[in-house]
Amino acid sequence: MTKKQKGLLIFAIVALICWTIFWRYDYYKDPATKKGGDLYKTIVKRGYVIVGVKNDTPPFGYIDSTGQYVGFDVDIAHNISKELLHDPNKVKFVPVKDTDRFRLLNNGKVDMLIATMTITPKRQIFADFSNAYYITGQTLLVKKGSSVRSLGDLSNKPVGVIYGSTAEETIKFLLPSAKVLGYRTYEDAYRALKNGTVLGVTSDDAILRAYSLKDSSVTLLSKRYTRDSYGIALRRGGESDYLLDVINTVISDMDNRGVFIQLRHKWGLS
Ligand code: GLU
Repeated sequence: MTKKQKGLLIFAIVALICWTIFWRYDYYKDPATKKGGDLYKTIVKRGYVIVGVKNDTPPFGYIDSTGQYVGFDVDIAHNISKELLHDPNKVKFVPVKDTDRFRLLNNGKVDMLIATMTITPKRQIFADFSNAYYITGQTLLVKKGSSVRSLGDLSNKPVGVIYGSTAEETIKFLLPSAKVLGYRTYEDAYRALKNGTVLGVTSDDAILRAYSLKDSSVTLLSKRYTRDSYGIALRRGGESDYLLDVINTVISDMDNRGVFIQLRHKWGLS
């Protein structure tokens, strides 16, 4: 090995060590992260829980006119905070999108996701899920009087989906001939439906219903193409084990006390 090659090798090793140190630092400096520790204890010590929620998906997670996070998922977060910290308001909400939910969870930016998250076998490979807390199914939002009466009617036609949602995968699987157009938000997809760019928007019944309730010119097809369960997602690995047990206890306790029925009523959900 020449002197120059040795120099390059040493430089590469030093660069690799520096990169590793900085990467770890970035990981550890985040308040939601404590790899190898116990996330439950971390949250209790920190004094607040960091929850990834939607900020644009009524009635599950959105921001009301006073600037507060509200919704069905948000209320579950308050119940978890009450159990963990004896105060329903020790929650820091972090807005998440379908496309970045898992990245924020795995980067340690949030402790958990309560974000209209469907439990799927594929997702269970890279996140731990609580027991189900809400059952829904995918359907289509169309304009009233539309010729689209079933998924099949969208063959070779444009249909809107939210990037990163389960409905994106479902429509590509069930109707490969549909022209799938992706949107980042429900508002964007809804606007595309209104202006005729797409002939339908497919997603969870529970989410799309909010649009048919606020706008009588759009409606939901009554058929659901899937049966889906929402769950709370946690980082995989031992750090979340105890927290997952606590969360499942909160969910069954809310169920037993009829809190989910009250919340469904409060947020106009079936
Ligand atoms: N439940 C679906 C999912 O987890 C859609 C959620 C959403 O778009 O908010 O992908």
